[in-house]
Amino acid sequence: MCGRMGVSHCDSCLRSAASPLPPFCAKCGAPFGAGCCSGSVPCCALSLHEGISRDILLELKYKNVRALGIPMGRLLGETFDSVRADMLIPIPLHISGRREYNQSLLLAEGVSSVWGIPAEDGALIWRKNVGSQAGKTGHSRNMMPPDAMEASKSLDGLSVVLVDDVYTTGNTMRTAISAVERAGGTVSSVLVWSRRVPSQENEASWKGIDADRA
Ligand SMILES: [Zn+2]
Ligand SMILES: [Zn+2]
Repeated sequence: MCGRMGVSHCDSCLRSAASPLPPFCAKCGAPFGAGCCSGSVPCCALSLHEGISRDILLELKYKNVRALGIPMGRLLGETFDSVRADMLIPIPLHISGRREYNQSLLLAEGVSSVWGIPAEDGALIWRKNVGSQAGKTGHSRNMMPPDAMEASKSLDGLSVVLVDDVYTTGNTMRTAISAVERAGGTVSSVLVWSRRVPSQENEASWKGIDADRA
């Protein structure tokens, strides 16, 4: 970001992305606390989806700077107090997508190295025939069926922390929470790199991004 040479990332630039938001409800996005959804789950975001935080995430997601993922996750783990949970579960990549790696898994692995809670890939999967949400807007995006994701039966009785890169509408998160609960697990909290205010911009219009890959 500052142009330092010979390193995959500059630690001080990375750290400058941390501007934690107050916890919000992972189900509806309102401030976390009394009077929210039943079974409300707190979501912690390192920052708003803007400025250097957004730049770093775009490098990770769309420019294949894979080496950023784990340091980003470590920063998340250092910024927020660890919670009691049996495992960290990244939101899975869409089966229809063509990404080479799951950025949320890298984030979860970084958090795992700080919190000492294992990150489990594959505990959550998208069911077939559910289209990618990226690029859809408004109505179609809200049409995600509540059973679009499925969680492993091994989550029965366990408490988990869900990890994702961006929180936007909460749709994906509600689907993931519902899948974990159907499998008998409990989501104790959610961690995301950033929170995007839905009206702020459309992901498909992000500069320099092939909309097809988003
Ligand atoms: Zn720097
Ligand atoms: Zn709520």
